[in-house]
Amino acid sequence: MSREPTSTVRLFVDRELTTGAAFELDKPQAHYLVNVMRLAVGSDLSLFNGRDGEWRATITSSSKGRVGLGLESCTREQDCGPDLWLVQAPIKSARMKTVIEKATELGVAAILPAVTQHTAVSGVNVDRLRATAIEAAEQCGRLSVPAVQNPKSLDQLIDTWPPHRCLVFCDETRAARPLIDAVREAVGQNDGGPWGLLIGPEGGFSGDEVDKLRRQPFVIPVKLGPRILRADTAAIAALSLWQAVAGDWRNGSD
Ligand code: SAH
Repeated sequence: MSREPTSTVRLFVDRELTTGAAFELDKPQAHYLVNVMRLAVGSDLSLFNGRDGEWRATITSSSKGRVGLGLESCTREQDCGPDLWLVQAPIKSARMKTVIEKATELGVAAILPAVTQHTAVSGVNVDRLRATAIEAAEQCGRLSVPAVQNPKSLDQLIDTWPPHRCLVFCDETRAARPLIDAVREAVGQNDGGPWGLLIGPEGGFSGDEVDKLRRQPFVIPVKLGPRILRADTAAIAALSLWQAVAGDWRNGSD
């Protein structure tokens, strides 16, 4: 179903969306609608919750910082994007925010921060990253928000990795096939995936990590060209290539 570009405000709400539902927005979202987007009673907007599709809603009340909404109708059926997880070693916060935003626009289903031996940052502000994912989902028109998991060590993730899920391992340290060739071949074997994509930290992967990863039957080591890309560049490039070969960029429709 092709969608006309709309300037309608889209909000993610963790509420059940059904015909005739009515509820008040939380304060930050009420402030955004009234004071930033200058919407008033009678204005329309779109809501989604990641489960019930997209719904048109109308502002029914607005006073003293409180905004009431009434749901009109469902305008888009819930769809699900590709089953692709981005496993990203934490990097400096500004670039990590960029990775979350771009990964959301590029359609990932989940983002798993993976602490590696050379990870230089001490912590991950998961709440801030989740807010970034929501904002990016509202902007790009997707009907879901990628789940941003709490950080785990790379070892833990590998040891508990679902064996049926391919893990495309972007390995800057050793020879490997171009991502496009390796993924295209894997698509032939298990088109629907599910899939994962692993990007290391600014300091790259250690030899032990590369050895362990390459021993896993579910891992597909790949190259992203002859140059060393920054982690954020690598994440965006790899996700784009994957979408084009195995994801929903293959559909010409909308
Ligand atoms: N240690 C590197 C930097 C690592 S780049 C240096 O010499 O500075 C961060 C991550 O991006 C890597 O761990 C890898 O996952 C990915 N990456 C960067 N360039 C890549 C390439 N040419 N092929 C595959 N992965 C790459």
